[in-house]
Amino acid sequence: MLEAITSAFAPMFYLISPYDLALREDEQQPRYLDTYLPMFFVFMIIEAVATKFLTYRQSKATSHTNYFTPDTFASVFLGTSQSIFMLFLKRLGVEISSSVYAYIWQNYRLVTYDVKEWPLATYFGLLLGVDCAYYWYHRGAHEFHALWAGHNVHHSGDTYNLATALRQGAIQPLTSSWLTHIPLALIFPPAPHKAHHELNTLYMFWVHTELVGRLGPLEYVMNTPMAHRMHHRAPGNCNYAGVFIIWDRLFGTYEAELVRKDSYGLAAPATSFSILQLNLRHWQIMQNIPRSWLGRLFSRRVKAKWFCRPSALFEPIPPQQGDKRPEGYSQAHAKDKLGRDVPLSFRLRMYIIIASAVGILASFVMLLTGASMQLSRFLPLLAICFGHLEVMSKLFTNPSKNLHMSLSMFVLLLVAMPLHLMNGSVA
Ligand SMILES: [Zn+2]
Repeated sequence: MLEAITSAFAPMFYLISPYDLALREDEQQPRYLDTYLPMFFVFMIIEAVATKFLTYRQSKATSHTNYFTPDTFASVFLGTSQSIFMLFLKRLGVEISSSVYAYIWQNYRLVTYDVKEWPLATYFGLLLGVDCAYYWYHRGAHEFHALWAGHNVHHSGDTYNLATALRQGAIQPLTSSWLTHIPLALIFPPAPHKAHHELNTLYMFWVHTELVGRLGPLEYVMNTPMAHRMHHRAPGNCNYAGVFIIWDRLFGTYEAELVRKDSYGLAAPATSFSILQLNLRHWQIMQNIPRSWLGRLFSRRVKAKWFCRPSALFEPIPPQQGDKRPEGYSQAHAKDKLGRDVPLSFRLRMYIIIASAVGILASFVMLLTGASMQLSRFLPLLAICFGHLEVMSKLFTNPSKNLHMSLSMFVLLLVAMPLHLMNGSVA
């Protein structure tokens, strides 16, 4: 039983046999991210309950969970809207990441080999290669304004929990999935590369938690919750690792968490939960850079030196020196963020939870069925699903101003989805 459970979760920690990842191009591609999507929500519930229980044991008066309803829904909405945007582009025939990689491999590869004959070389080459590519993309996403415009959305939440892993910018995959992977396409075929790329992304889910402290010797090699917390604490221009922290230690961007704190997010915190505003926010900020738009796109926001120091891999990690987390901080801070200290009424809170959950479910149905739907049916449904998520996220920011609009969009969604499902089943 225990073995069945651990093997079921193994892909979430990149624990897959090299032989299972030696995939030929004509073999069925595993879909790790889609498969484990429901587990994200299970783990989020476990984390919320565990935090409440642990803080209750410390102090019954200030027991709390680090999940704040609007913040959590905003994270899920942002992840969902990224998938919606990618499906929208796919339906228009734009699929940059897999197309660029496959094109380079088909036309410019340096070697042709059978992955079944070289499973270990393929595994270790892609395990390290994909992770190194992620490090340099992620570092670039913090150092260059154009890439930060897509990536800053991931850093816009000021709570830190597993839901933060789902908080993603809509345009980020346009740059993250291929830019630094081009050298790999000269050697490794697309099928095993895609599997490793998904596992690399999947691994990063579990490091978004405050529940896990230091992990001993693993801290020297692996990206861990301790290392990644520093990445989400402003200014956060450190610990860019995906799976292995060795890249940060090697290239001089490693910072150990010396004092536990629970302040996270952007140096200039976002003032809205709106998924549109969060996605457009840095483009607006970039207007203030005194250069042409081309110059702004290539201008750097972090000027860290690029160097490589292998001896740094063996330097000791300093021990934790303190803990400055005030009790009950997360809830109070999340409310202060928007200057709203008046609690929402029970009815409004229930509406937010139900309408948000229905919006997420409807979007998932649209994402599952949208790839094969007629464009004339797909586009209106996409607009309704995204419109509902956007209006809900504005409702979190200003309930009194956006309630009527939100109710209208919710009714539209409740009418459109059954019609879509009925038409789908008839067809
Ligand atoms: Zn980042």
